[in-house]
Amino acid sequence: MIEPDPARSGRALDYTRQFIGGEWIPGGSGSLDAVDPYTGDVWASLTQASRSDIDQAVQTASEAFAEWRRTPGVERARLLYALADAIEANVDELAELETRDNGKIYRENRNQLFFAARNYRFHAGMADKLTGETKPLDRYDTVDFTIREPYGVVALITAWNSPLQTLSNKLAPALAAGNCPIIKPSEKTSVSTLAFGRLLEEVGFPKGVVSVVTGGPDTGRSLVSHSGIAKISFTGGPATAAVIAGIAAGNLVPATFELGGKSANVVFPDADLERALPGAVSGIFAAAGQTCVAGSRLLVHDEVYDDFVAAVAERATAVRLGDPMDPDTQMGPIIDRGQFERIIGMIEEAKQEGARVLAGGSRDESQPSGYFMRPTVIEAEPGMAIEQEEVFGPVLSVIRFSTEDEAIQIANGTRYGLAAGVWTRDINRALRIAKEFQCGTVWVNTYRTSAAQAPFGGVKQSGYGRERGTDGLLEYTRVKNTMIDLSDDVRDPFVLGT
Ligand code: NAD
Repeated sequence: MIEPDPARSGRALDYTRQFIGGEWIPGGSGSLDAVDPYTGDVWASLTQASRSDIDQAVQTASEAFAEWRRTPGVERARLLYALADAIEANVDELAELETRDNGKIYRENRNQLFFAARNYRFHAGMADKLTGETKPLDRYDTVDFTIREPYGVVALITAWNSPLQTLSNKLAPALAAGNCPIIKPSEKTSVSTLAFGRLLEEVGFPKGVVSVVTGGPDTGRSLVSHSGIAKISFTGGPATAAVIAGIAAGNLVPATFELGGKSANVVFPDADLERALPGAVSGIFAAAGQTCVAGSRLLVHDEVYDDFVAAVAERATAVRLGDPMDPDTQMGPIIDRGQFERIIGMIEEAKQEGARVLAGGSRDESQPSGYFMRPTVIEAEPGMAIEQEEVFGPVLSVIRFSTEDEAIQIANGTRYGLAAGVWTRDINRALRIAKEFQCGTVWVNTYRTSAAQAPFGGVKQSGYGRERGTDGLLEYTRVKNTMIDLSDDVRDPFVLGT
C-alpha cells in the first residue's frame, strides 16, 4: 500500500496528489521536487497547493466538523488505536520514506514512528475522558458546569527533521479532542506525510476530518491566514513563528509554537562520567544535530573539563558517517546544501571570534554523495555567536565553568529555552538546578528522552504552548460554561445577576 522505492532507481515517484476532503486531488499551482539528501537525486515530485486547494480543504473540514464534534470519544479512540496499529504495520516503509526525505538514519526514523504510534495510543485513551467540572456557585439553586469543546478546523504545520513524529504530537490530541486538522508538512519532507494520509484513509476517518496539503511558505501562509482556521499549531524556526504569530493575532486565533533551541547539557565532577559521556555525544550528534532539543552547548566543570572534553572529541571523531539506510551508520548527511553552507559559515565565524575547533569543523569528503558534516566540537566562550545561535547541525560548543551559579547563568544566557540537561549524583544540586533552568524540559542524568505522557515545549524564543500528555491535549480544547437557574425567582432585570 505504501510504496517506497527500495531499488533507489532514480525514478521520481509521483506524490503530486493531495489528500483533501477524503479524496486524492490532482492539481495545485506548481510543482516541487523531493530531494534525497544522501544521493542528491530528485526522488519524488510534489505539488504546491493553490489557494483554491486550501479553500477546499477548509470547506470540507468545516463540513466534516459538524459531525465529528458529535462523534463519541470512544469512536474517536477506536480510530486512533487503529491508526497506531497501522503505523506499526507499515513502520518499515514509512521509516524508509522519511530517511529518503530527510537523510536521518533509518533506525532513528523507525524509532520515532514507534513513538508516534505511542502518542496516538495515549490520546486514544484520553478521547473519552475529556471531562469538565461542576462549579459550586454562591447560590445554592444554581447549577454550573463546564465542558471542553474542540476548536473546529485547525492548521498543523511541521518542520523537516522529524515529520511524522512531530505530527503525532499535534494530530493525536487534535483528533482526540474532536477537531478537524489540515496538515501542511515541510516542503522538504512531505512524502511520508502523504503516505500517512493513505493510512488515515484506510483506517476509516470520515471524509474531511483530516486533510494533507503540500507546498512551501506560501501554502503555509495561505493556510494559517484562512478565516476558517480556529487554531494553529506550528513547529519550525522562530522567524517563521513570529510571522505566523502576527497572523494569528490579526485573526484572534490561538496558536502553539514549538521552535528551536540552544540547549545546555551540564556536567558536574560528581556525575557518573561513564554515562554522561554518551549522553553528551548523543545529545548533539544524534540525527546529525538536526533536532530541536540538541544539547548543542556542553558545560563542563573545571575539575573534569580537560579529560571529559578530550573524550567527547575522541568520540565525535569516531562517529560512523554514511548511507542512512545502512544499519551501521550513526550519522547521515545534512538535509541540503543551504543548511550545510549555513553550518560551515557559523563555524568560520566562530573561528574568527577566537573559538578553537577540537574535532571536525569541515565537510566529510570521503562520502560519495550528500552534504556530510564531520561531527564538530568547538571550544567556545559564552556570548560567542556559535554559543548563542541554533546551528541545527552536528556542532557542539563546549564551555568551561567552575561554580553552580555560573553554570546556571551560562545555561540560561541565550534567547532560547527549550531543554537542558544536568549530570550529577547530588540530588539536591539536581533539584536546585532544575528549578533554576529557564526551559520547558529538564533532564537529569539522561538526555533527549521523550514520553507520550510528559509535556514538551519551550519558553522564551523556543515557543509557547505544550505538546504531549494531558497538557498537550487540553491545548486543543476550550472551555464552555453552562449555568442553570433551578429557582422560580424573578430577578431584577436592571442589575447584574449573581
Ligand atoms: P521553518 O520555520 O523554515 O519551516 C517550518 C514550516 O513552516 C515548514 O512547513 C514551512 O513550509 C512552513 N512555513 C514557512 N514559512 C511560513 C509562513 N510564512 N507561514 C506558514 N508556514 C510557513 O523551519 P524548518 O527549517 O523546517 O525547521 C527547523 C526549525 O524547526 C529549527 O529551528 C528547529 O529547532 C525547529 N524544530 C522545533 C521542534 C520542536 O518541537 N520544538 C521540532 C523540530 C524542529
